[in-house]
Amino acid sequence: MPDMPPPARPEPARTPGAAGLVALADRCVQCGLCLPHCPTYRLDRNEAESPRGRIAYIRAVAAGQVAPGAAGDTHLDHCLGCRRCEAVCPAGVRYGELLVGARAAQAARRPLSARTRAVLALLARPRLLGLLAGLQRRLGRWLPASWQPVPAPPASAAIAPARPAAPTETLAVFTGCIARSHEAGSRAALARLLAAAGIATTEPAGQGCCGAAAAHAGDADGAQALAASNRAAFSGQARVLCLASGCQDTLARALGGVAAVEDALVALDRVADALAFRPASRRVALHLPCTQRNVVRSDAALRRLLARIPGLDLVDLPDTGCCGAAGLHQLAEPDRAAALRAPLLEALAASGASELLSANIGCRLHLAGGTRIAVRHPIDFLAEHLA
Ligand code: SF4
Ligand code: SF4
Repeated sequence: MPDMPPPARPEPARTPGAAGLVALADRCVQCGLCLPHCPTYRLDRNEAESPRGRIAYIRAVAAGQVAPGAAGDTHLDHCLGCRRCEAVCPAGVRYGELLVGARAAQAARRPLSARTRAVLALLARPRLLGLLAGLQRRLGRWLPASWQPVPAPPASAAIAPARPAAPTETLAVFTGCIARSHEAGSRAALARLLAAAGIATTEPAGQGCCGAAAAHAGDADGAQALAASNRAAFSGQARVLCLASGCQDTLARALGGVAAVEDALVALDRVADALAFRPASRRVALHLPCTQRNVVRSDAALRRLLARIPGLDLVDLPDTGCCGAAGLHQLAEPDRAAALRAPLLEALAASGASELLSANIGCRLHLAGGTRIAVRHPIDFLAEHLA
């Protein structure tokens, strides 16, 4: 593996208080350039459902200029946290930070629902979640059918065995919450790919949910507790690979000063010269999650990797906006989540693809709930075509 400087290790995240929220919001110059990029504004054509409207509401409440109300809180609830606004903002508004702080303030005055607390409690216990997820009929009352674990991807039998090579390096892998059971096949695929490049993987014990769902729901204490567990679990590791683009930013902030976090696709791209792929014989569609586009920015690495598969018929799905998954949004707002997903699924159906690749587990679960077409992590597909 070529020598590369380790990714930057950001400082652990702190939730901004009222003064911090005002300062963050004051960076907004109200230009409105973000509005056409906001999926909820595109859905409702309502200023209050736009980044600018939400920032104004957050600032006014934090500054004590207006009392929080049900209408403003609902518009804040609808925010997907996709950070498309942040990616295009010319003023550098750190919208993700603003949203997490605003949701924490919101939760302090408006307690989380019993259902949200129950789901967060489950996500904080990945082993229990894995056990419960196996009880499909019972769990169907609590979570969508698509959240139930699937066996290894159908094509996994075709995955080539790892070519033995003396490992020159060992990298830690993040297992997450629902991904612990649901994404086990993808982590095995990653291990096969890296083994072919002479890199071993390890899954340190004691790790758990990244805390993104808790932070976005306003449970700052829960998110901090999960961050502390992960800091202990990954202590002593130089680099941690993450397969879910929706988890990476929160995990990286939690591990600030402890270990560097890197997208598994970026790590694979760096060693790709050591990998050989056999031809693909089917049409495959590609979905780029918001967090992969706007936060992790591993889409270029993914495209380079897929371009190494000879004859691959890859169809780019149009960017119709967020798929609607957005952490707990798909559970809290199923109708809005389905409306946001619909144009993407229509494009998928029209593409003629036999499977869909997406690098974020939340998106995959949500998309799989609306189509019969197989939805897989790109790493599964890459490992299947390892020569
Ligand atoms: S693009 Fe940035 S500065 Fe302009 S309205 Fe949106 S958040 Fe505010
Ligand atoms: S995070 Fe996404 S949904 Fe929320 S305001 Fe920004 S663009 Fe809109």
